[in-house]
Order: sequence, then C-alpha cells, then structure tokens
Amino acid sequence: MTARTTARTRTALVIGGGIAGPVAAMALHKAGIEATVYEAYDDSVSKERSSRFGGGMTIAPNGQQALEAIDAAEAVRAIGTPVTALGLRSWTGRHLAQLAPPADLPTTRFVWRTELQEALVAEAARRGIALHRGKRLLDATDTGTGVTARFSDGSLARADILIGADGLRSTVRSLIDPSTPKPHYAGMLTFSASVPKSTELPSTEGVLYMCFGKRAYFAYQIQDDGSAVWSANLPHREPMTSTETQAVGAGEWLKRLREAFTDDRTPAPDLLAATIPSDLVITGPTETMPPIRTWSRGRMILIGDAAHATPPTSGQGASLASESAVELARCLRDLPPGEAFKAYESLRRPRVDRILKHATAAPTATSAAARTATPKPAGPLSRALRDALLPVAMKAGGGGSAVWGAWQFEHRIDWDERVG
Ligand SMILES: Cc1cc2nc3c(=O)[nH]c(=O)nc-3n(C[C@H](O)[C@H](O)[C@H](O)COP(=O)(O)OP(=O)(O)OC[C@H]3O[C@@H](n4cnc5c(N)ncnc54)[C@H](O)[C@@H]3O)c2cc1C
Repeated sequence: MTARTTARTRTALVIGGGIAGPVAAMALHKAGIEATVYEAYDDSVSKERSSRFGGGMTIAPNGQQALEAIDAAEAVRAIGTPVTALGLRSWTGRHLAQLAPPADLPTTRFVWRTELQEALVAEAARRGIALHRGKRLLDATDTGTGVTARFSDGSLARADILIGADGLRSTVRSLIDPSTPKPHYAGMLTFSASVPKSTELPSTEGVLYMCFGKRAYFAYQIQDDGSAVWSANLPHREPMTSTETQAVGAGEWLKRLREAFTDDRTPAPDLLAATIPSDLVITGPTETMPPIRTWSRGRMILIGDAAHATPPTSGQGASLASESAVELARCLRDLPPGEAFKAYESLRRPRVDRILKHATAAPTATSAAARTATPKPAGPLSRALRDALLPVAMKAGGGGSAVWGAWQFEHRIDWDERVG
C-alpha cells in the first residue's frame, strides 16, 4: 500500500449548508478533520427563500440521537416543539390509530426547516467552523491526492476530500456520476403554515395528526395555547417549479386549499380559515428520487438527500441526513479516504434502503400517510375499506409499534466505537 492511500483525511470541502452540511462539518471537526462549508445562497433566510425552503418537518428520535453523538442535539431541542405521538384520522374525523415511539427515546420534535438550518449553522460557527455563502459549486477536479472545487463567483478551494451535501438536485452527484437519475415530480404541491393563538380548536396534547382527507393529505398539531401548525399536499397533475408555484400567490393557494378540504370533518377547514396569506409557506413541488447507485468516486462522496432522499412523508429525511453525516465522519476519523468511503457505504446502504422500502410499503402508519399524500386520493369504496381495516391492522401489529416501524427510531451511533 502506498503512503498516499494510507494517509488520513486532514481537510474537507463540504458543499451545501442545509442540514447534512453543517452536521457533517461538526462531526468532522469532532473527528479532528478541518471542514469548510460552501453554501450556494448568499443570504441567510430572506422571506422568499424561507417560503421556498422552509416547510415544517419532524426530527425523529434517531436523528436527535445522531446529533447527540456530536453533542449537537440541543440545537434541535431548543427550537423544536415536542410531538409525543402520531395520530391517523379519516376525512370523516374518525380516529384510526395513534402511535408513539418507545418512551425511552428522545421525543420527536417539530421544527421549521429554516430555523433548523440556522440553528445548526450557528452551532457550527460557535465551534469555529467556517461557512462561506454565495459559493455555488460548478465543478470539481480530483487530482488523486485532493480535490479542487470551482465556484460560480470564480473562486477555487482545495482540500483532501469533497463531500456533497447539496440536496436533492446535487451538483456533486452529477460530477460523481453524470448518468445519475434526476428527481421526478410526484404530482403534488406542498404547503404549510403556523396559525397564531387564534383558534378555538382543542389542543391535540402533543399528537401530530395525519389525515386522509377526502381530496388531499393534511397534517396538523394544535398546542395548548391554541396556536397550531399544519401542512398539506395538494394533488396537481401538471408539474410546477418552485418559482411557478410562488408566482400563483398565497391568497390564491389558500382559496384552492380551502376548497380541497371543504368536506373534511377534521380541523383542516378551521385551520385553513384561520391562516392568513402572509403565513403560508409555499414549499412547492413534491419530488421523489430513484435510488442512487453511486455514492462516491475518487475523493468525492455524497451524504443526505444528495445520496438518499426519502419521501417527505417518511419523516426521516433530515434524520437520515444527520446519521449519514456523523457516520461518514467516524469512518474518516479511523480510515484513509478510499476505505472510509467503502465502510461508510456498507454501514449506511442497508439502513437507508430499509427505511426507503418501509416508507413505501403497506400497511405502516408512515406509509399510510404517504398513501394519503398521493396525487390520487382514494375513492369511496377504498376509503371505507381503509377506515375499517387500518385500525385492525395497527392493533394486530403489537399496538402498532411493529407495523409502523419503531425500529427506525432506535438507531443509535456509538461515536467511540472504532470503524474497521
Ligand atoms: C415538504 C417536505 C417535507 C419534509 N418533511 C420532513 C420531515 O418531516 N422530517 C424529515 O426528517 N425530513 C423531511 N423532509 C426532508 C428534508 O427536508 C431533507 O431530507 C433534508 O433537508 C435533507 O438535508 P440535506 O442537507 O441533505 O439537503 P438540503 O436541506 O436540501 O440542503 C442542501 C443545501 O445545499 C445547497 N446547495 C445546493 N446546490 C449547491 C451547490 N451547487 N453549491 C453549493 N451549495 C448548494 C442548498 O442551497 C441547500 O442549502 C421533507 C422535505 C420536504 C420537501
């Protein structure tokens, strides 16, 4: 073996300052590797950007445990609202199932994506990690002993390795494998909002409800003080870009959302009535990603959505992104880059594939939610069958924990365990 292949990684370029990027940089820092983050956008969170990228999401127990491994879980706890259980409801208002992760795990937290991103970036900065904004990666050259990145402002940066944490439409993924598949429009547009303390609706007491609406999917949680958060997926046959969705305007989308949920006997109509246009977050098109066959080439590697985007309804995207970021750093701490990349992939592939399969398989709670969040809501007969059979299926699965995949949440990374 040559000296070159056995040399440990000293420096890393992390492309993308979303979720996976700052987490990877903190994990690398903890592993003794100097990481610098390069983010395409030059502002922090402008209103327009917040609307485009700032939907609500949950950070599952396993995601928090990954952050705990690098002493960063407080960043989520500080901004996240606890979600003690997930509930499933029919459009008729009927409760179909309620599922809580094992009590000994961290409580799931609801966060706004932009707030999570800001919190992680702030925590990384507190640890002395540099994040450069306005640096959109265009190209990268692997010299065999390092990688040189070229950005849209004409600047260059060089390090031992380059990590692609640049999301669903990853540039690094295309550099690693130009034949890599592209995301597909999933036939739905996503919206979310927070509603101030103005509703008369009762608190959901920590439960986040996912509703099989008659025409569309709706999720909501109402706090004790009457404030609430909700998100909805509106079927929309014609693909729309984020920009096109924004251009329609919040007032018009709210009108269409109110029409879509008008028959539902859930809190959806009331929450939509209480939402003002300026509070509507128009996330835009929901996209799915075929499995990515190649995660690394030479000294470049992928993490987060760039490597393994999951359906939004799986509730695992940001959590899996955090896990992968921490695991990659652990591998790079203990092994030279080539071996570390192989070890990382063999640690991560089976878990990521299993979660992906689970998110699209019946009859789990998350997949049930995923199914209700489809462009083709069920017809009257399917709705009746589902409402009758789902509670039975959930009970048959050991109080739900087996069928809804409690195993996903238990994953814990032992930072001190050596790799290889
Ligand atoms: C509607 C919706 C709901 C979701 N709900 C959940 C949920 O409840 N729970 C959950 O865990 N996950 C959820 N997800 C998924 C979650 O948002 C993603 O899995 C997570 O954001 C992935 O993090 P990431 O860092 O890999 O990618 P991103 O968060 O997309 O970050 C990528 C970053 O890279 C930057 N970038 C892109 N290209 C370049 C370039 N060329 N050069 C430099 N920088 C670049 C981008 O600007 C961005 O900041 C949801 C997603 C959607 C769309």
